[in-house]
Parts: sequence; C-alpha cells; structure tokens
Amino acid sequence: MYEQGVIRPPSEASSLLVRVTRNCPWNQCVFCPAYKGTKFSKRSVEEVKKDIDAMAVEYGGFARIDSVFLQDADSLVLAVDDLVAILEYLREKFPKIDRITTYARARTLKRRTVAELTRLKNAGLTRVHAGMESGSEKVLQLIKKGLTPEEIVTGGRHVMDAGLELSEYIMPGIAGRALSEEHARQTAHVLNQVRPHFIRVRTFAMHPLSPMQKMVREGTFVTMADDEIAGEIRLLVEDLDEMHSYFSSNDFSLNLLMQVDGFLDEKKADMLRELDTFLAFSKREKQVYILLQRSGYYRYPLDVVRDAGVLAKVLPEIERLEKGGEDGFNKYIDILKSHQLPQPQTDDWC
Ligand code: SF4
Repeated sequence: MYEQGVIRPPSEASSLLVRVTRNCPWNQCVFCPAYKGTKFSKRSVEEVKKDIDAMAVEYGGFARIDSVFLQDADSLVLAVDDLVAILEYLREKFPKIDRITTYARARTLKRRTVAELTRLKNAGLTRVHAGMESGSEKVLQLIKKGLTPEEIVTGGRHVMDAGLELSEYIMPGIAGRALSEEHARQTAHVLNQVRPHFIRVRTFAMHPLSPMQKMVREGTFVTMADDEIAGEIRLLVEDLDEMHSYFSSNDFSLNLLMQVDGFLDEKKADMLRELDTFLAFSKREKQVYILLQRSGYYRYPLDVVRDAGVLAKVLPEIERLEKGGEDGFNKYIDILKSHQLPQPQTDDWC
C-alpha cells in the first residue's frame, strides 16, 4: 500500500509518516542501531506521490490529521525541487495539514542555503529535527557522528535564519566518564550560538546491539551512572544562556529528572535548583529516587525520598540488590534502562 520507516520523534506520534528516503545516508554513529545493515536510497517524487494517494484514501476522511513527518534520517538530501513538489502535493491532498516536519543532518543543513530552506518553508515545511548529540569535537569523533561543531552551528543557523523551527537533540552520558565535562561545556557553547527553538534531552543508555558494547569491553568507553549524568546536565544547564529555547526533558523515558524542563529564559534557575537538590541527596536517597523512576512510568517529585511509606518498601529492595555484589544496584538499573530504550515506530534515535 505505502512504505513507512522505522523511527520518528516522540512529538510526531500522531503525525502521518511519509517516507521520502530510505534509511540513513551516514549510518555510522556508533550508538545508533536504527538502520545498521540497511542501504540508503532516495525515493522518486512519483513513488512518494503514490504513497500519499494511498494515504489520502485511507486517512482522507479523518479531520484530525493535521501533521506530517517526512522519513527517514536525512530528508533534506533530496533535491529542493523534489521536496517542494512533495510538500505541495501533501498540502493539496491533506488541506488541513498545518505542520510538516523532518529529520536532517547538520552537514546537509549547512549545504542548504537559507534561500533554499526558505523555499521549503514557503512550500509547507515547518520544523527540522536535528540530532547533534554533542557540541564537542572530541565526542563527535568518538561516536562517529560525522559532524563538526562548526557544521552544527552553521547548519542550525541556516534553519533559524530561514524562519523554520529547529529542534536540536542532545545526548547526556554519550561521552562517557572521560569526556563528560568537555561534552557538557562544548554542547552548551554550540547551543548558545544556534539558539534553537527546542533543546531535546535524550539520555544515553547502551543498546544491546550497539557497536559501543565493543568499546566498553576494550575499556575505551566507561558508562556513567544516573547521578553522574545528572551532574553533567547541571554543568550544561549552568553554561546555557537564558535564551528563549525550550529545554525539554519530559518527552523521553530515559531522562531521570523530567522536571528539568521549560524555557531557559524563564526556568533556568528552577532547573538548576532541581538538579542541585538531587545532587545534594545522600547516596541512599539518590538510589531510592533512581530505583523509583526506573521501575515504572509514574514520575515522582524529589521529596518522595523522605516519604516513610515509600522508604519502607524501597530500602529493603536496594539492600537486596547490594547483596548481589558491589555494583549490584547499578547493574539492575542498567537492566531497567534497557527496557526503556526507544522502540521502532514508537520513538527516535536520531
Ligand atoms: S543517529 Fe541519525 S545520523 Fe546517526 S546513524 Fe543513526 S539515523 Fe544516522
């Protein structure tokens, strides 16, 4: 009937998924299993139009379809004329659409001129999702992101200057212990230059199929525990300007402190206070909070660690885990985190 790719951002959960390319033209990021073993290809305008026709038959009667996400990982590699033809056809077939978004790599965004991106905006594109992960040259090389900080800044500025919305995705924990501080400081430095509409936090957790497992075995990458990652996020938020960018933590299940969320020009002090409260907890209090957050979908306020009823249930469990060895608690948390990893068609990697 029509093709669909495997991932999309969580904010596009109710969007129509229109596949304009297949897979990822880069496909080398070591943390990302999304397209490994697949080959990238562009789809022709005619092929995509046929899909849109089939979707119009299936969904055309549903008034609620008002947003579209263009798949897969780097749609703007298509010729601008082809993208304009697809965007115009989408709006013709689905006249109620008021939002069309896509993933794009910073290198591609740097190649696209502001005039080209403005043309896409005028044809209906509204938002670009870009996975920068880090602003540190060393970290970008470590994870084989295939980007430089300069490409992230220039590509991001092109999007902003064209009047499109920009979501930048960052990945606390991806630098490992050795590069954590550099990762936090340089990511803030790059974001302060791009000043995107959204900064979306995607806490790193090791996927069982990730090539990074090999780096862990070889000792070239040391994973960070939840409290260390919270410290890294503290450094990042501290260095971010009080700009009108939305720092978004509450839309990704692997983020521990989802309440660290809001516009930086309004909520930065509140976010730092929340992080400081957590970081000042005793080791036991941190364990209580982490175990509660990682065990279910309910989100707890930080003062839950002083609730006698909760402690009566959670403390014996922590003591039992610690009896399993020095690192028994952290190993159990890693298992819980692996259950929260993004799933195909329900979440994103990019
Ligand atoms: S993270 Fe994005 S750019 Fe990197 S391999 Fe995965 S899909 Fe491609």
